[in-house]
Amino acid sequence: DGGKRPDYLAGLNPEQTEAVETLEGPVLVLAGAGTGKTRVLTTRIAHILNTGRAFPSQILAVTFTNKAAREMKERIALLVGGAVEGMPWLGTFHSIGVKLLRRHGELVGLRSDFTILDTDDVVRLIKQIIQAEGLDDKRWPAKQFAGMIDTWKNKGLGPADIPEGDARAFANGRGRYLYFAYQARLTTLNACDFGDLLMHPIAIFRKNPDLLKEYHGRFRYILVDEYQDTNTAQYMWLRLLAQRPKGELQNVCCVGDDDQSIYGWRGAEVDNILRFEKDFPGAKVIKLERNYRSTEHILGAAAHLIAHNEGRLGKTLFTDRSDPDDVKVQVHASWDSEEEARAIGEEIEQLQRGKHLLNDMAILVRASFQMREFEDRFVTLGLNYRVIGGPRFYERLEIRDAMAYFRLVAQASDDLAFERIVNTPKRGLGDTTVRALHDYARARDIPMLAAAADIIETDELKPKARKALFDVIQSFRRWQELLENTPHTELAEQILEESGYTDMWKNDKSAEAPGRLENLKELIRSMESFESMRGFLEHVSLVMDAETNENLDAVSIMTLHSAKGLEFDTVFLPGWEEGLFPHQRSLDESGRAGLEEERRLAYVGITRAKHRCHIWFVSNRRIHGLWQSTLPSRFLDELPETHVEVAEMEQSYGGYGRGGYGQSRFDKAEPFANSYSTPGWKRAQANKTDATRDNWGTRSGHAVERIGYGESGPKGRTIEGE
Ligand code: ATP
Ligand code: MG
Repeated sequence: DGGKRPDYLAGLNPEQTEAVETLEGPVLVLAGAGTGKTRVLTTRIAHILNTGRAFPSQILAVTFTNKAAREMKERIALLVGGAVEGMPWLGTFHSIGVKLLRRHGELVGLRSDFTILDTDDVVRLIKQIIQAEGLDDKRWPAKQFAGMIDTWKNKGLGPADIPEGDARAFANGRGRYLYFAYQARLTTLNACDFGDLLMHPIAIFRKNPDLLKEYHGRFRYILVDEYQDTNTAQYMWLRLLAQRPKGELQNVCCVGDDDQSIYGWRGAEVDNILRFEKDFPGAKVIKLERNYRSTEHILGAAAHLIAHNEGRLGKTLFTDRSDPDDVKVQVHASWDSEEEARAIGEEIEQLQRGKHLLNDMAILVRASFQMREFEDRFVTLGLNYRVIGGPRFYERLEIRDAMAYFRLVAQASDDLAFERIVNTPKRGLGDTTVRALHDYARARDIPMLAAAADIIETDELKPKARKALFDVIQSFRRWQELLENTPHTELAEQILEESGYTDMWKNDKSAEAPGRLENLKELIRSMESFESMRGFLEHVSLVMDAETNENLDAVSIMTLHSAKGLEFDTVFLPGWEEGLFPHQRSLDESGRAGLEEERRLAYVGITRAKHRCHIWFVSNRRIHGLWQSTLPSRFLDELPETHVEVAEMEQSYGGYGRGGYGQSRFDKAEPFANSYSTPGWKRAQANKTDATRDNWGTRSGHAVERIGYGESGPKGRTIEGE
């Protein structure tokens, strides 16, 4: 066409360009970390829009987190040089699922104002069902069954589809029946769980070919990031939308990296990569081999580590980003996690003095319990930090209570919300009243709030309860009327005041009460950016990402799992110890596959770093409340010496009286010898007998030193168990 090539194409390498410009037919980009897969997707969308091949509303683009979706939207806007008019179908599988269900839910028996239940609600509901069946919920825990349902849904299996063995495995063969009962109950409640956000659209599309055809017409381009972590249900969903009748073009583009598949435990199927080529014959497979993110040392370390995995598709990676000033990956050791947090804090402050932004630094932990230590330390130091994806704000007790009020105002049939708050704060509506209401509602198949309105006209309840219930109903009627015309933040505040909920915490003398009141205030604040109560409620049920103040210069703290796709100048990877990383559970439960997934997680961690990567291990860690002497992670052994350096002994190390501990077979002096030929941790490990190592793996506990501890922590420890 002879026109000038748009700027956004200029910086791409030939393979990236091919991936962006191959707009017809299926494309699979299979490439290692930092090779520009996400950038290719973003540029591809910009290119589609810029060349007028589709409107924003005709592009279906799936990202792994809501945050990634927001960022992608912003980048696209930058690339096409102006505001993109919406991109309504850019989001996570879940958020797109919600949108589809709001439109077509009636095809599976849901009204458009259905509620999305969180895990807690689901467990409560299942417990009720188990009890209603006269089963012992101690013997058959609701939580366990919730997990089974989740697993089935990840595989795209409804109650009728689950294997016979699975169905028999719970409650003496009643698994299938309970699963059916659960789904029926959800429909009655006009609610669905997370798995349904995929399962229902799949069912809808399967049963309504005309509707599916309509969506085929709508979605001219389909794109998926982090494809290696899709589960079977997601893949089924995707295939329904992307596979077109013969003769029509299948403009689907998936990008992924088998080495970064880290959600196997949640049902992700890395085999979806292989299925893609089968289900989309003629797919163009593009490999990107140049890494634009990391230095040679970082990439070298990561590549050497991941080479220890067997089940790999195999890829090449190289980088041009080498500079004589580049530092090797640093391995540090500390006495315990407090020491580790202190040392990392110091490292961060030093970087800060060197004019590095906190925004460019991240601490990536294996398990979220590791975060607290850093949070405490940073609060002491006055270092800004943000926790991403951690214990979520919306999961806190007071927030859940408040949300239950809002949910019930927005949807009067939300029985779980009703049950949660009918006696919170205490109003004399105890278990007896709730049970009476429950029975009344079940018998007539009406929501509990409606049952409450009926029951106060009868003499089923004692006068006191009747009066209290009357007040509750009146309040909800009032709030429901206000829902449409009152600003939702104002209404929210009013609800918390009038219900007595705020007062409940004001009168509470416990240490947490002030924090809870703060959180409630924060909740109201967080509603401001939404147009309506419903919009807000929907958002909350979807948030995966924790609240962050984007404007603050702050260190990010998050789990390795939530770091996927991100990059930072400096990355700290604490807790590289056997039993923590690789995680004990992965070793116990899934053998080699589990270990390989852990190794991929380590690979994801290292490859988040652009310039500096610091790995830490400690000699003592409290796991499940017990101080344990730990062994350095086997992953440390798997790092190449050419790209790794053992940092010098921390100054503060040994500050605790090491006295008696010096006798340990695991001589703490060794790891800090600044030796490059035989990294200290290897020698330290050689000092341990093989038996110790094996025992650790099976957690027999015999050879593992347990260190006695008081509440105060590691001081005054003694060694037991030898
Ligand atoms: P991950 O596997 O970790 O998700 P990725 O393959 O998606 O990584 P991107 O995040 O898209 O990689 O890119 C990594 C970094 O390299 C980004 O900072 C990106 O802007 C940069 N980058 C990608 N391609 C190019 C290019 N052609 N020129 C310059 N920088 C590039
Ligand atoms: Mg990416």
